Amino acid sequence: MKTVETVTGPILVEQLGKTLIHEHFVFGYPGYQGDVTLGAFNEEEALETAIGVARQMMSYGIQTVVDPTPNECGRNPLFLKKVSEATGLQIICATGYYYEGEGASPYFKLRAGLGTAEEDIYEMFLKEITEGIAGTGIKPGIIKLASSKDEMTKYEKMFFRAAAKVHQETGIVLLTHTQEGTMGPEQARYLIELGVDPSKIIIGHMCGNTNPDYHKEVLDLGVRIGFDRFGVQVLVGAPFDDQRVTTLLSLLEDGYEDQILLSHDCIIVWLGRPPVMNEQVAQIMGNWHPAHIFENILPALREKGVTERQLDKMLGINATALFAGSPVRV
Ligand SMILES: [Zn+2]
Repeated sequence: MKTVETVTGPILVEQLGKTLIHEHFVFGYPGYQGDVTLGAFNEEEALETAIGVARQMMSYGIQTVVDPTPNECGRNPLFLKKVSEATGLQIICATGYYYEGEGASPYFKLRAGLGTAEEDIYEMFLKEITEGIAGTGIKPGIIKLASSKDEMTKYEKMFFRAAAKVHQETGIVLLTHTQEGTMGPEQARYLIELGVDPSKIIIGHMCGNTNPDYHKEVLDLGVRIGFDRFGVQVLVGAPFDDQRVTTLLSLLEDGYEDQILLSHDCIIVWLGRPPVMNEQVAQIMGNWHPAHIFENILPALREKGVTERQLDKMLGINATALFAGSPVRV
């Protein structure tokens, strides 16, 4: 029997149901900890917001959300557990660190200088996966990995190697962040070379690139990919949603429907002060909310002839296969 850890304990992979593969209930860019005077965390308010959004997701039939917030970006497993217990939504949390440019790199860089970083990361991943996070008993269901634009830095590669080792011992799923549509193939190849089972890898934010050949290079390695930033336009080098849809349709036409998962990469509660967008940006980003796929993207896909079966795969069946480690046909 194959199981996956959620913030309320293990479930059978068959129980995942309809799944959003990449959404953040709480997230802060490292540095938010310094803005506590104006950006204090009000748990009661945050819970009310998060529970409301969880219920909204469930109204579209969503049963599971993967929240891949990196450890240093405000990951809060107890908060996620409260949201899950209040609503019945299954939430999978992560262990992992963000990419060098936007993560909190000084901590493990110091340890790299002392020669212990990789072993330290390995121990951290393993302890959290086997015993739980910080004494909560809550176990991550994935390791989150990330790389920079156009490169995987020396710092980032330490996490990939430690994760590969822990994956070989535990079978845990690895979920990645790619920056601005780059390094998807390199991430997948590096992990596979390190001995990771391709069927347990999902390369994230692939929809940041609109060239189908870039996608096929990754897909033909037998991994799964995230079209997981619907609604994120222009900001962080992102394309427009219509370009995402065009790219997705071309991949579906070529038969990759078993390897693609859809999501928004929403941030429901910001740690620190929430970013203020000017009117123009706010308008462009107006669809960055967890109902967007259901209200706007699915109708557009249906109109182009995408079948209900294909949509069910990209919103759940493929997640079950990922956590089960079912090989994809390539
Ligand atoms: Zn994310």
